[in-house]
Amino acid sequence: MKSIISDPHKDPLGAMMLDYLHGDYEVFAEVASTRFSMSTMSAKTMFRTYAEMDELEREALHLCRGTVLDVGAGSGCHSLCLQEQNVDVDALDISPGCIKVMEKREVKNPIHNNLFSLESGNYTTILMLMNGLGICGSLDGLNLFLQHVRNLLAEDGQIIADSTDLRLLYNDEDEEDESFDDSDYGETEFIITYDTLVSVPFQWIYVGFPVLQMLAEYNGFECQQIATGQNGHYLARMYRR
Ligand code: SAH
Repeated sequence: MKSIISDPHKDPLGAMMLDYLHGDYEVFAEVASTRFSMSTMSAKTMFRTYAEMDELEREALHLCRGTVLDVGAGSGCHSLCLQEQNVDVDALDISPGCIKVMEKREVKNPIHNNLFSLESGNYTTILMLMNGLGICGSLDGLNLFLQHVRNLLAEDGQIIADSTDLRLLYNDEDEEDESFDDSDYGETEFIITYDTLVSVPFQWIYVGFPVLQMLAEYNGFECQQIATGQNGHYLARMYRR
């Protein structure tokens, strides 16, 4: 859980983004998961500009203040928007390809590390976007994150993060998922493939707001739902009580 990707052959996302940066604008990765049907992730999406972002992301960017840690920064799309507004931002990612991409795009402070390996910090805002809480991997991981993040946050710091309530997703689509019951917290496992490159399987979680709020409060955080989007997508803000 604490490692970075050190082998570029196990970094399909990074390789795809590097190809995009070098002019292959149509590239995409395949995403296999234990609970959804096969899907794709286009590089173009990862490089979205402020104008291409949805309301929820824009709101998240507007809420950022002080020194920001962009967790799972990807292509640096959010870090670049913040930099333009003269916000001081560190862009963290486990993927060596993403770090190269961010260096080439002149993101000022890319950091190649794992969120769970950062020992201390004094960030005013910790930003986690594109189902950003998913990085925590599982309900246990989310609980661990909420304990760990105290070491990274300033006293008056905040976490701005999004996730998706799969119950609402299924309702919206009017689709019965018989495997979805009360003990299902939206945990899944993904494998990403790009060209010949295959990621190691990794855990991801989609957590509904009521569960997030319960865990956050348990760990001494106030937790507000700031905005809701389509298909159960929502933005949350957490800060110490
Ligand atoms: N936030 C970006 C990218 C989302 S994709 C956007 O909205 O476009 C998720 C990113 O998180 C990937 O780039 C992946 O390499 C990174 N990541 C996954 N687990 C991580 C961890 N434990 N610590 C830091 N980065 C992580």
